[in-house]
Amino acid sequence: MGTLYVIATPIGNMGDLSFRAVEVMKTLDLLLCEDTRVTGGLLKRYGLTVPMESYREQVHERKLAGIVGRLEEGKAVGLVSDAGTPGISDPGSWLIRDILRLAPETKVIPIPGPSAAVTALSASGLLTDSFVFLGFPPHKKGRSRFFREAMEEKHTVVLYESPHRIVKALDAVAEIDPNRPICLARELTKMHETFYRGTVTEVKGKLLAGSLKGEFVLLIAPVDKK
Ligand code: SAM
Repeated sequence: MGTLYVIATPIGNMGDLSFRAVEVMKTLDLLLCEDTRVTGGLLKRYGLTVPMESYREQVHERKLAGIVGRLEEGKAVGLVSDAGTPGISDPGSWLIRDILRLAPETKVIPIPGPSAAVTALSASGLLTDSFVFLGFPPHKKGRSRFFREAMEEKHTVVLYESPHRIVKALDAVAEIDPNRPICLARELTKMHETFYRGTVTEVKGKLLAGSLKGEFVLLIAPVDKK
């Protein structure tokens, strides 16, 4: 049975690919990625030539059968997402689950590296002994309930939000508790990396005074440990 390497890649700064990730990639028979153009750029930067396939392009079941076939032949298959750790709020997790369902003997080896959630947490200044990661809030149905529950958490809450909805997310938090300490991490590891810290009301003011472009991680202090 083959090996599936779950490989974390940079979330912005191309220098954040680990030495081990590079060494493993050199040995792969196949690298599964979300978008071959995105991953192709990373491979080029490191002078790597690895056969790539997008796991998004074809109907899931057909694609899955092909991947499992390669693993059954004993091949070394890598899995990356566009950025960060595969499976953390991106399509990697269903792929790993389904591979293990069809080929439970597959050896799955994680090659750790950046993830936006943990990167943001590490520099947030909020309590990080325990935290809950909630991924992306729902767009419409269930959104207000999502924020109500998040605001009741006894642990630091970490969530992802798109630039189009980040102000709305801050409004949802402020509506429940305008004085709740938060940290908003923008464009982590990139040129315009910014940490906005303070109450949600203060952070919204700072954000609106700057740029709303980029990628965001929102961290909310626990309800009773401000
Ligand atoms: N698997 C990735 C990881 O491990 O972080 C996350 C993939 S998810 C589809 C993409 C979201 O992660 C973005 O919408 C944003 O909320 C967050 N994100 C990714 N890169 C980021 C960065 N450089 N700065 C801030 N947030 C980032």
